[in-house]
Amino acid sequence: MRKTKILVLGMMLCMLNSCTKPVFYRRDKYLSPRETKKVAEKKTVTVVKKRKPSGKRLPQTIIRIGILPKKKAVCISSKERYEVIDVFTSEKISLETEKVYLIKPQTQGISVGNHLLSSQIRFVPLSGDYGIKVDNRRYRDNIVIRKKNSHLTVINELGIEGYVCGIMTQEVSPLWPAESLKAQAVTARTYALKHMGKHSKQGFDLCATTHCQVFNGIQAEDLRTNQAVYATWGEVLTYQGRIAKTFCHSCCGGHTESESGAWGGAQSSPYLKGVICRFCKPAPHYQWERRLTLKYIENALKNKGYSVGKIKRLAISDRNDSGRVKKLKIVHSQGTLELRGSKFRAAMGYQVVRSSLFNLRMDGEGVKFVGRGWGHGVGFCQWGAKGMSLRGYNYKRILNCYYPGTQLEKWSD
Ligand SMILES: [Zn+2]
Ligand SMILES: [Zn+2]
Repeated sequence: MRKTKILVLGMMLCMLNSCTKPVFYRRDKYLSPRETKKVAEKKTVTVVKKRKPSGKRLPQTIIRIGILPKKKAVCISSKERYEVIDVFTSEKISLETEKVYLIKPQTQGISVGNHLLSSQIRFVPLSGDYGIKVDNRRYRDNIVIRKKNSHLTVINELGIEGYVCGIMTQEVSPLWPAESLKAQAVTARTYALKHMGKHSKQGFDLCATTHCQVFNGIQAEDLRTNQAVYATWGEVLTYQGRIAKTFCHSCCGGHTESESGAWGGAQSSPYLKGVICRFCKPAPHYQWERRLTLKYIENALKNKGYSVGKIKRLAISDRNDSGRVKKLKIVHSQGTLELRGSKFRAAMGYQVVRSSLFNLRMDGEGVKFVGRGWGHGVGFCQWGAKGMSLRGYNYKRILNCYYPGTQLEKWSD
């Protein structure tokens, strides 16, 4: 990929083109256009993929998030001026503020209140910072609604920085130290750019659930996490000139896991090799215990499609370098099942067996697990980042610790 840097002037022109379009805001007080400009002026803008919607042009890389797939109807409103544009005919209709419009699929297109438009429409804010409300949640920038068969797919089409603002508090607490929040912002931004187009068959880039990254729009934003996003504007991690894979997890339990250790296959990313982490001990799930009955294990395995009889015993047959369970032997009435530690976790539930870094012992009609950490353990340890931040490490050092060998740079294609 080719890297280009577009200077501030370019971005300001973009912003002028977009009239009074607001881009930045925070939970309970929006940044004024002047404040927004100040934030923008501090940064060199980079654009990764420029998609130009037929409505207002956004002064950032645009990302499309599938916020509500398969809806029968949806309510749209705003407290500021906004309009709806028919993507196919370019017809524009100004919408009334405060009024709630019911959007429904019709045989010939989509109805917006009493108006009938074609099967793809875009709601665009024209002033203010309120955003557009979809059912009970407010979102930055544009809302695109597409009709497919008899369902509507609702997509938030927004600048990448605004997107990262809307996911931060789902990942970490805004009360955490600023450097750990910045490291999280870079990790989340890099992850999003790496996975652009993951849901392209459904007409958007990423979904808004744990499958990609949990995104809940403006209500999920916080001034402190937003500041971490702005302070790292456009920064991503790269390895040999390409966007890195920035997996992250809550707490590694003392040693992060390699990519191949967690999911098998080749170790294709040297920066995901697994490192010692001395900083996540205060995490609530640094140590955990869980007892599961043999019946629970049997049912959980059957629910995931494994063919097992009555479970007799479990034994760890192999471990990865990080100490995590690589393979687990499950002896049952019809034979023996050998499973990867990660597959076993997936079957039991990620909140039930919090990590594959565990010991086990048979305990009557059950199994007692004693483990450390929460999550797959690959890449960035969030609690470890918090711990490093408290000890005075800046976000660049933190990222370099968990993704050794990567570069931090502004990115575009
Ligand atoms: Zn997804
Ligand atoms: Zn850790």
